[in-house]
Amino acid sequence: MTLSADLRACALAARGFMPENEGDALFDAAVDAARHVGGPFLEVGSYCGRSTVWLGGAAREMNRVVFAVDHHMGSEENQPGWEWHEPDLVDSRTGRMDTLPHFRSTIVGAGLTNVVMAVVGDSPTVARNWSTPLAFLFIDGGHGVEPATLDYELWTPHVALGGTLAIHDVFPDPADGGRPPYENIYLPALASGMFEDVSATGSLRVLRRV
Ligand code: SAH
Ligand code: MG
Repeated sequence: MTLSADLRACALAARGFMPENEGDALFDAAVDAARHVGGPFLEVGSYCGRSTVWLGGAAREMNRVVFAVDHHMGSEENQPGWEWHEPDLVDSRTGRMDTLPHFRSTIVGAGLTNVVMAVVGDSPTVARNWSTPLAFLFIDGGHGVEPATLDYELWTPHVALGGTLAIHDVFPDPADGGRPPYENIYLPALASGMFEDVSATGSLRVLRRV
């Protein structure tokens, strides 16, 4: 099973940071997770909805839903002056980043509004008020030490037994990218004994809760 041609076109047309081969690996991991365990999927960090289309496609195939958590105001690294800033995503009235209109346009265009549920707010605050066990958790939010650590500590306990944790932008070699997703999410997840490695595709790591 792969992402349908119409959804693939929507994903590739959406702005964001998910390479096609890693999106396909994300789709496969989510489908596989749903074969093992019940519960919804949840994404931390949706930006303009690019990765969300792969997850939404997997959820639609497997009769699940995706909660897409993002405050839509951009991570530290998306702000003016940082490497991953896109100036036209700034709302001129507020002077702040706002990716929500782009996210919504992507999801409506993909026909995934009945599958993808946007949760617009601060990830740690949502996590502290969350209680539903997750079949699939995808962490791709803020990549600084503090946001990565909070996403690890507050979200990973919600992965159901037998469920899946996927982490994006994991770079064991500092020459390839920032450290926190590797040092503050991936390594602690393995060290906890609660997760075991399943696969790696580019910077995407897939782990299973044991
Ligand atoms: N998954 C997307 C890229 C996400 S970029 C893709 O593949 O294209 C990271 C996102 O995390 C940004 O949209 C930013 O707004 C969000 N984010 C960062 N810190 C957050 C926080 N504390 N709460 C909610 N969202 C956050
Ligand atoms: Mg990413």
